[in-house]
Amino acid sequence: MYDLLIRGGHVIDPANNLNAPADVAIRDGRIAAVAEFIDPAQARAVIDATGQIVTPGLVDLHTHVYWGVTYWGIEADPVAARSGVTTWVDAGSAGAYSFPGFRHFICNASRVRMFAFLNLSAIGLIAPTWEFANLDYCDIDLAARTIEENRDMLVGIKARIDHNTTRGVGIRPLELARTLADRVALPLMVHIGNAPPALDEIVALLRPGDILTHCFTGGTHRLLSDDGRLSPVARALRERGVLLDIGHGTGSFSYRVAEAALAEGLLPDIISSDIHQLSVQGPMFDLPTTLSKFLNLGMSLPDVIDRATRRPALAIGKPELGTLQPGAPADVALFRLEEADVTFYDVEMNPRAGNRRLVCTMTMIDGQLLPQRAERAPAIWAILPEHQRRILDRG
Ligand SMILES: [Zn+2]
Repeated sequence: MYDLLIRGGHVIDPANNLNAPADVAIRDGRIAAVAEFIDPAQARAVIDATGQIVTPGLVDLHTHVYWGVTYWGIEADPVAARSGVTTWVDAGSAGAYSFPGFRHFICNASRVRMFAFLNLSAIGLIAPTWEFANLDYCDIDLAARTIEENRDMLVGIKARIDHNTTRGVGIRPLELARTLADRVALPLMVHIGNAPPALDEIVALLRPGDILTHCFTGGTHRLLSDDGRLSPVARALRERGVLLDIGHGTGSFSYRVAEAALAEGLLPDIISSDIHQLSVQGPMFDLPTTLSKFLNLGMSLPDVIDRATRRPALAIGKPELGTLQPGAPADVALFRLEEADVTFYDVEMNPRAGNRRLVCTMTMIDGQLLPQRAERAPAIWAILPEHQRRILDRG
């Protein structure tokens, strides 16, 4: 007997090369079987997924979920229930001083699965920026000890490298992050935006398996040449095995860069949201909206789902997630692929017309439905930039 059968949907599970109509059976919180037909009489409960797309629960590699403590953090569970994201990887909200609170007050209190990149800065992202401006906070020994005691949750090191975060200290924080990542043998996730430091200095410190997030930023670090074509740096990073991650956010997704990359056949390795207090208000909104932007740029649905399931799971060393492989945790998402005229925007509010949109209808973790509930109101400081508000307020 199965506990639950998700019946009649179209399953997209890139980890198993599956893109076909199939039924999914769940037992004891795990995937029990995926097959063209599974007898509903063998299941205690049945969900009818006719006309819907069934995927592994999405894995969002770049999120900020340390709500109530950091400038950026949102509460994950209510957003997960409406977006299909079952694994939330927090990208450096916590540093060594604030990680115990992240584990206790956030991770232990949430239904969703959580992992984190530890910020090299011991204060993490309490404030909007400047976490590296005081190098006293870059305590490698303290960060390494925090990682050794929390390897079940910590999957890498985060360093935001741009003109604000590193104000006055140059590339030094990234050199320290490199040393730390080598010492603990975990990947480094580096955020780019605006120089200084120069992009060349940043790129020189990245190694295979590291993650360059905000890879399609329109800031001065952008991977775009003056002639409007993709910068050779992008191809060089790909060849070296550095993972290119979207991290859309409020300031980090440019259609111009994305289109230049796709025109040359360079697809991002991972599509993540960088969801936080501001970006959740739009034009990012959530991971399905971000995936829909790439769908409408011409990527195939399996390619898009791959970049929000199997690939981010592998990037954090969790191959048992982001897959419907029998035996894997029963994290599942259902989507309708709506055909409608939609206008999508990048962070500069450049519009693009689209005709397809992924809309999540159900999120399941360990075989349990995640109930819909109201999201928290934005923090009082979380006011969108004026150029975004002006257009989004028009609806
Ligand atoms: Zn971020």
